[in-house]
Amino acid sequence: SVMPIRRALLSVSDKTGLIEFARFLASKGVEILSTGGSAKAMAAAGIPVTEVADYTGFPEMLDGRVKTLHPKVHGGLLGIRGNAVHEAAMAEHQIQPIDLLVVNLYPFEATVAKGAAFDDCIENIDIGGPAMIRAASKNHDAVTVVVDVEDYAVVQAEMEANNGGTTLALRRRLAATAYARTGAYDAAISTWFAEQLGETFPRRITFAGELRQEMRYGENPHQVAAFYANAEARPGVASAEQLQGKELSYNNLNDTDAAFELVAEFQDTACVIVKHANPCGVALGGSQKEAYLRAYSCDTESAFGGIVAFNQPLTGETAEELAKLFLEVIIAPEITDDARAILGTKKNLRVLRTGGLPNPQSSGLLVKTLAGGLLVQGRDNRLIADELKVVTRRQPTAQELKDMMFAFTVGKHVKSNAIVYVRNGMTVGVGAGQMSRVNSSRIAAFRAEQAAKTAGDAESWAKGSVVASDAFFPFADGLLAAAEAGATAVIQPGGSVRDEEVIKAADEAGLAMVFTGMRHFRH
Ligand code: 5GP
Repeated sequence: SVMPIRRALLSVSDKTGLIEFARFLASKGVEILSTGGSAKAMAAAGIPVTEVADYTGFPEMLDGRVKTLHPKVHGGLLGIRGNAVHEAAMAEHQIQPIDLLVVNLYPFEATVAKGAAFDDCIENIDIGGPAMIRAASKNHDAVTVVVDVEDYAVVQAEMEANNGGTTLALRRRLAATAYARTGAYDAAISTWFAEQLGETFPRRITFAGELRQEMRYGENPHQVAAFYANAEARPGVASAEQLQGKELSYNNLNDTDAAFELVAEFQDTACVIVKHANPCGVALGGSQKEAYLRAYSCDTESAFGGIVAFNQPLTGETAEELAKLFLEVIIAPEITDDARAILGTKKNLRVLRTGGLPNPQSSGLLVKTLAGGLLVQGRDNRLIADELKVVTRRQPTAQELKDMMFAFTVGKHVKSNAIVYVRNGMTVGVGAGQMSRVNSSRIAAFRAEQAAKTAGDAESWAKGSVVASDAFFPFADGLLAAAEAGATAVIQPGGSVRDEEVIKAADEAGLAMVFTGMRHFRH
């Protein structure tokens, strides 16, 4: 199954590594065919090369739109070796077999990314390149196809090891890579077109990501799992560099994403601790260490084995505190040298550096699978519809207002039904994922009591707190549970048919309450 490479066609936009690879091919006696710019580059380096135009007898024309679209090229790529009929046809039309195709495409994606005009983008749609790639890949039984500069070395190594040939196993792998490339290329064009037409959704759902990691298992050990990353999109788990620690698991990535997206909501120094994709402690602090200790104190029990996210470079001082606890992952925009040295002693602890923070307001699509399809929606990228509307007789104090915004922001990142108690810029109780809002309220109040107990305080930490609800209180009961626990102010979207009843209950309990006009279900 080893096929010798006698003739190659090289046509590349990205000329990285071209000369070295071509020189290697020439040294193995491979005859090189090439298009205008690539041929010129190789000739200038003294590598013998034949222009495709000379081989086909047709000049490149129409501004390069037609360069290689010719039967002498496509016949050379597609003709079945050892098939008498094919070989006779090839001989009759002077079609030479092409054994190796090296193509990388017009930089369509990069042209779009740099904000080029419509016509420029259109002109950067490669036609002949994908046609050749698809032809060569179909005929991988005999033809080797290379679409990534990184694969030059792989082909070179095989040719060295196989007397100038490649194995069928490699040709098959390269063909699969090649079709992934042409598929992604057309997907990028289609997505761009939809945007040009002002359409929110492309005709077909496509994802321009690459297989980053195959995990040992998924959410559970009997599930397979992999991570596809699109690092250009958003600083976070996909852009992160792992500085140390064990391989990231499926759950690690999911939880770390939740933690980092939440911590990026804050301008001030903040820390988020996540377990099972819900925050169990979130706090601001005068220092980063303080923010962490406050977040930790909210729920010391749950924080064990947690994911900790920061919105500022991780300092040595904070790292010393982190090192005292068993944690799965730490993620921050930067990790200082001091912090690295301290955490370096914890071999299993995964430490991620993202290089930046995602913009919470940016748009984008979220995808969820359901049996036989995908559900797609825009990111939940806002917090309040308009202005906060005070609906009670009592106005909130400045501190209450600050805490309410903080609580509502956290609530946006808690699975529904979400109830979040906050006091002085830190969560004191989080109720997540319950089927009734009143049960989430009860759990959050219980957590605030536990936090106080852990700290040795006689009074629940809900005393003097504010409470946020991700959606309206359908009845007064959830609100009354909060008042009973000691909350003095409430932030919620409003919009229930029983709003009046709920406002009346708030007034009677002496609470201040604001409506945001915007709800934050998260499931
Ligand atoms: P060069 O720099 O060698 O002149 O051009 C190389 C580029 O041309 C490659 O990206 C290749 O995919 C592309 N290409 C090769 N043949 C054709 C063709 O017939 N039409 C178009 N539009 N592009 C081609």
